[in-house]
Parts: sequence; C-alpha cells; structure tokens
Amino acid sequence: MTEQTCAACDYPLDGGAIEVTLGGRTVEVCCEECAARLREAGADADAAA
Ligand SMILES: [Zn+2]
Repeated sequence: MTEQTCAACDYPLDGGAIEVTLGGRTVEVCCEECAARLREAGADADAAA
C-alpha cells in the first residue's frame, strides 16, 4: 500500500482526502484549507508564467 500525504502540509491522508486539480495534475489534500492554499499557489504560478 502507498501511504499518501497532503500535498500542502504533509499530513497523512486517512480516507477523507480532497482532490485538487492544478494545471492538469491531480493532487490530494487533507482539508479545504489546504485545497484553497494550493489553488492560490497554482493561480500565482499561472499568473507568473
Ligand atoms: Zn493539509
């Protein structure tokens, strides 16, 4: 089994993962707060590109 962790805070995902799509990549986070954080970071990266 692969142990997955939150893409934003490295907290171990335990069944309640939330999927976030960033620029065609899907990552999993532990909560909506982390999802929002990644979306903001992704938006910044898109703006800079
Ligand atoms: Zn998290």
